[in-house]
Amino acid sequence: MSTSPNQPDLPTSIPELAIEQEGFDAPSPSLVLLNDALATDLGFNPAWLRSEEGLRFLTGHGTETPGSLPVATAYAGHQFGNFAGLLGDGRALLLATVAGRPGLTGLKGQVGVPDKSTPTNAAASQATQLYEIQSKGTGPTPFSRGGDGKATLTSALREYLISEAMFALGVPTTRALAVIATGEDIYRGSQIPFDEQPPTSELQPGGIVVRVATSHLRVGTFELVARSGSDTMPRLINFAAARHRYDESAKRVLAGVVKRQADLVAQWMTCGFVHGVMNTDNASVSGETIDYGPCAFLDAHDPRAVFSSIDSTGRYAFGAQPTVAGWNLGRLAEALLPSLEETPDDALNTAREILGSFADEFASALTRHWLPKIGLPSSLADDPSATKLLRQWQSLLVKFGPDHTNVHRALISLTVPTDGNPLAEMPIARDEGQWPDAVAEWARKWESVREKKGVSKARARELMEAANPVYIPRNHLVTEALEQAGAGDTDLYLRLLEAVTHPFEAANFPTEFTLPAPAELGSFRSYCGT
Ligand code: AMP
Ligand code: MG
Repeated sequence: MSTSPNQPDLPTSIPELAIEQEGFDAPSPSLVLLNDALATDLGFNPAWLRSEEGLRFLTGHGTETPGSLPVATAYAGHQFGNFAGLLGDGRALLLATVAGRPGLTGLKGQVGVPDKSTPTNAAASQATQLYEIQSKGTGPTPFSRGGDGKATLTSALREYLISEAMFALGVPTTRALAVIATGEDIYRGSQIPFDEQPPTSELQPGGIVVRVATSHLRVGTFELVARSGSDTMPRLINFAAARHRYDESAKRVLAGVVKRQADLVAQWMTCGFVHGVMNTDNASVSGETIDYGPCAFLDAHDPRAVFSSIDSTGRYAFGAQPTVAGWNLGRLAEALLPSLEETPDDALNTAREILGSFADEFASALTRHWLPKIGLPSSLADDPSATKLLRQWQSLLVKFGPDHTNVHRALISLTVPTDGNPLAEMPIARDEGQWPDAVAEWARKWESVREKKGVSKARARELMEAANPVYIPRNHLVTEALEQAGAGDTDLYLRLLEAVTHPFEAANFPTEFTLPAPAELGSFRSYCGT
């Protein structure tokens, strides 16, 4: 495993945040999925990962493997607005830290992260980003707090599918390297995802998902260290700065995280992703999406959409995500406060100033990411007529509730002669009747802005085809695929995985993969703690 001597890993840099811990003895672990391309990008030989020694490494038993030292890491966090104290890896182990080229988790063009256009010299000089390999579902740790430390095989398969779909959509995210069946049945609540029947308890096959991130540092890691009254904070700040290419000061780290979280949540909003459990222990300081528990994708566009069964107040509703991200960053600022400036007054002013930039950062990121979806280049982000047109489009989505994914793909019909009028014929969730008129009026405005800004129809089409996916992990499809996979038939799961990891390749996959959930399924509920 290739690591970097200049940038030590977390257990070396901040040993007080890591406790050595082996994985549990799974009765008969077997590899169910391996992400060969990602493995290769991280310098692993996929054949080795498939070997017995590789499997030992992935399940947290690889202490004989050079570079592997499984640890459970400590963090705290605010859950649903309340400080929950010490949480930590209760069912996950950090296995190793390896070097790879930047961008493997979808971070690009952001503070300190070169985008694809940045010229680089030798291949060796590209392996400049460190990545953490972490396995989830590896058994109890000192942080398990009474939990079994395990995960179900279906939850592991779900995280693999959705995180790889997010990466293919261009959204920064933890990647999925592998899924392992442990060969052990574990007790879990059995939940029926489309109605409100009470959960029951049943045995389900256990699994492990192996994920990859530039780090697993969370806002909650800083919250823990801030409350520990130790000398850890300066090392944590330096570690985060080096790993995530922020300049080395508390101020720069805070500003960098604000910018990346703003960019990340803007991308969730453009693709209709609802994270579902944006607690501060699930807010990464790297700007990657982390923790695919109760997450779900929108069918009908709806700012009030909530899928998670435990989010009874709608704190983490689709439209609330930017506000919650800002709130989480406030917790990071609080933790960093004593490190920001020499005096408390100066520190408060600096924190206010940096946090105050979040709203603008988010608004501008949202515009940059969404303009291509209506066929206009991101370079028009400061153009008043383009941004007004975008706002009018977003208001239509809120008012009428068409399918978030399909309505954007249907916008391509504005650029090519098409049978019928796909936009006007789009089913909508609210205000039946006026949609065709409203969307026709908006299309006229679109035509005029497009012409005035000199964007050809061909260019608009190109932008929309690259920004508007055909295939997303629709909740009802994911549910069906996981049900079948749980019963031993992975055919649908693998076809769905292929489609959502090639989201812009129209016409390669079944039409059913593009359809919203049938109405008779009722509303979708997602469950975490699986
Ligand atoms: P999550 O909801 O996955 O973000 O987890 C929140 C906290 O609960 C983390 O500290 C997890 O490690 C812990 N946790 C979740 N599920 C389990 C489990 N089955 N056993 C032990 N700890 C768990
Ligand atoms: Mg978590």
